[in-house]
This record gives sequence, C-alpha cells and structure tokens, in this order.
Amino acid sequence: MQRRTKIVATFGPATDDPKVLDKLIEAGLDVARLNFSHDRHEVHMQRAEAVRERAKAHGREVGVVVDLQGPKIRTGKFKKGPATLQEGDMFVLDVDHPLDAGTPERVGVTYKPLPQDVNRGDTLLLDDGRIVLWVDQVDGSAVTCRVVVGGVLSNNKGINRQGGGLTAKALTDKDREDIRTAAKIQADYVAISFPRSADDVNEARKLLRAAGGHGGIIAKIERAEAVQNIEAIIDAADAIMIARGDLGVEIGDAAVPPIQKRLIKLARERNKISITATQMMESMIENAIPTRAEVSDVANAVIDGTDAVMLSAETAVGKHPVAAVMAMDRVCRVAEQEPDVTMSAHRMRAMFKRVDEAIAMCTMYTANHLDVKAIAALTESGSTVLWMSRISSAVPIYALTSKVETRRKVSLYRGVYPIAFTVTTSDHATVNKEAIDELRRLGTVRDGDLVLITKGDLTGVMGGTNAMKIAIVGNLPEFS
Ligand code: PGA
Ligand code: MN
Repeated sequence: MQRRTKIVATFGPATDDPKVLDKLIEAGLDVARLNFSHDRHEVHMQRAEAVRERAKAHGREVGVVVDLQGPKIRTGKFKKGPATLQEGDMFVLDVDHPLDAGTPERVGVTYKPLPQDVNRGDTLLLDDGRIVLWVDQVDGSAVTCRVVVGGVLSNNKGINRQGGGLTAKALTDKDREDIRTAAKIQADYVAISFPRSADDVNEARKLLRAAGGHGGIIAKIERAEAVQNIEAIIDAADAIMIARGDLGVEIGDAAVPPIQKRLIKLARERNKISITATQMMESMIENAIPTRAEVSDVANAVIDGTDAVMLSAETAVGKHPVAAVMAMDRVCRVAEQEPDVTMSAHRMRAMFKRVDEAIAMCTMYTANHLDVKAIAALTESGSTVLWMSRISSAVPIYALTSKVETRRKVSLYRGVYPIAFTVTTSDHATVNKEAIDELRRLGTVRDGDLVLITKGDLTGVMGGTNAMKIAIVGNLPEFS
C-alpha cells in the first residue's frame, strides 16, 4: 500500500548535501518547503532546482512551497550579549531604540506601530511564549513592561500579543519582493504568513499572477483573527497550514488541538487542502527516533484527515533529516489503516454543482463500495482529483496529466499520485488501454483487477470530465 498522507519537509543547511537529498526523496518526500525567513534568494533557487532535478532522476514529482516570512515582529539585538529578565523586573520595548544596541533594560523592536497597538494590561509573549511580559505603560515610542515569566532573551526573538490584535499588514515589502522570486522559481505553492482575512490571500494571489507565477496560495493560520475569519480565508486560498507555533502563542497552546481538528474538517468540506505543521517530530532535531507523543501527534493528524504533515527544523537544521521523513512515513502508513479513514460518509447529502464534480463523487462512491484497485483520472487542472481526494478511501487516485504544474500541485493532495501521461488519440478505447498500461507498468494493477477511469469527451480540456468507466485490466471491450 502506498502512503496517502503527504510529507512536506523544510529545506535548509541539513538538506543541502546531495546524498541527504537523494535519501529524502527515496524516503518519500512529497513537497519541499523553502522558508523565506532565512537564506538568500540564490540559495532558495538552488534548492528548488536541486530537488526537482533529483526527483526527476528518481522518476518522482516533488512540489515546491515558498513560505513567506510575513510580519513577524521581533526584538532587536543586544549590545553586550543576551539580557536576563527576572520576574518582577521592568523591561522596555522601544521602537525608536537602535536595533543593534539592546541593553539589559531596553531593546529595539522591528515593528514601529507597536505602541499604538498595545495597551496597559496586555500580555506580550516573547520567543514563542518562553518569556511573558505585562504591559505597564505606553509612552511615545516606549512600551514599559513588567516581567511575568523571566528568562534569557537573546537577539531577534519573536513578539506576539496574547489574543492577537496587532494590526501589522500580512504582506511586507520583503514578501512582495519574495513573491517575485517565487514566480521565478515557478513555485507550486506560496504560503503567506499571518494573513488576517481573505483580502490578504487575494492580494498575494494577484501579486503572484502579476509576476507570472502559477502556484496555489497557502494561508497559514497563525493569528487569532484568522480563526475568526476562517471560512472566507479557506474559500480564498487553495490550502491552509495549521501553523501551530505562532497560533499556539496567540490563542494558547491548549486551544490548538481542537482548532486543528476543526480546521482540517472545514478545509475538507470546502474542497481545500490542509497541512498540519510545527513541532511534529521536534525531538528529532537532536534524536534519531521520535517520542511516543510525537508519533501520536502525527497519527492523530492523519486520522483527523489532514492532507499533509510537515517537518520544519527537523529537516532544515536537524541532525537526522532522513530519519525524520522515514518516521513520518511509517507512522502515516499505519494510521491510514484505521477503518475511519478508509471509508467515507462524507457529502452523502450534498447536492453537486458541476458535472465533473458529480463524476468525481460517483467514482469515489464506487471505489469504496466495489473491489477496485485504482482510479485513473485523466485531468488537466487537477480539479477532479481534488474533489476525489476529499473523500476518505483506501483506493489510490492516479492523476494522469501531461501538465507538469498539475503533477506538482497534486503532490500535496491526500491519496493522489501524479503520473506523466499524454493523450495522443481521440479514440476512447485506445486512451483507456494506454492509461491502464501505464498503471500496469508501474506495477499497481494486474490482469483481472478493476480500475475506474475518468475523463472527458475531449481529453485535454479543463473541467471537461464527464464520464467514469469501470474497466477490467487485460479485458477491455472494443467499445468504451
Ligand atoms: P513558521 O510558521 O515556522 O514560519 O513560524 C509555522 C508556525 O508558526 O507554526
Ligand atoms: Mn509562524
């Protein structure tokens, strides 16, 4: 059985070794994430090129996600080493203080409007919540805080406000520049950080298209406001990422697990993709095996129905990047055998809006209720396989398409496997035979197996799927 849940791995210094890259692909990497919070454009371009080149050498398709930094608010640097903050001390965040000259009492901040956005009584969380400050007074450029939970504060640490509400725009000047690079890389997806609304998603898409990029937009859900506007954001985006790091800081760690379940379900109902991210195998940055809690976390995301699970520092800078992908692979495979995630009662009462959607749904119903070995979907844009992949099933969905962008885009869809396939004739019997021959060559079907084929009258036309055929391998009738 093939793994259905997709694995996204963040690239970084630890994945640059060509031997490591090859092993990641062999271990089943589906999508590479380029984190634009770090590294120069040339480095990202090299990584995108390398992973595509090696994937091709392995006969695989690996998608590329450009993840924008967004308006991550950070403290400046310290002049003489980190500051030690003790409970009860006063500490000043000053937006006019030089960014490279922090002292034990005062540090600069990268976000000028901070004093307008906070009030006395607010709680500010530094370094992913490790340090907690209570706002005592706002005066001009200075936000004077009392230390509630102390610790060592080093250079460039993130600042969040508990409950959200910082007004920073989602797309910074750097993000706008990075979107142009994403277009140049021909990224399959661009992930936007800290969007608050559907407008932020639409704006990113407009900028990407204007720059000539074709990629889908991933909305990272990591702000309290995004949770409030979630339905509109999901509808505007192609995919969401449950960015549990920043989200947990803003809404509290305990609120994340139930929201994860809700977001995965909502995305699926609205025909969109979900990625579950952050700290999934965190201990593997150092260790060769995950903890039981991490194994459970990944398995639960699979059972929740996520399309993809993501690795961050584990692969980018960790000591065991290949072992981390292998661990995810083995956990996903076992979790996917749960009856709950192989059968579906999803959309049984729904009305369908389109013919291709109806074909996709009847294909999944048939696949789950007849002994079918595989689905061969001849698709242009991938929309038919997106509908199919929203339905739980144990039957693999092969996306047969000549379009490389579509093959890479579907690398993120649960249960969907891209295959390069060019339709060379308008004769349906021949097309069916060639599609089945392709699956047979891959070793996924044998004589006597049932295969479902979906296609349109004119294959190669977007949204044209209007037929499902139940074919027996090695026994194709003359008509079709
Ligand atoms: P980041 O996003 O790694 O870019 O911060 C993920 C998260 O916040 O969880
Ligand atoms: Mn984040």
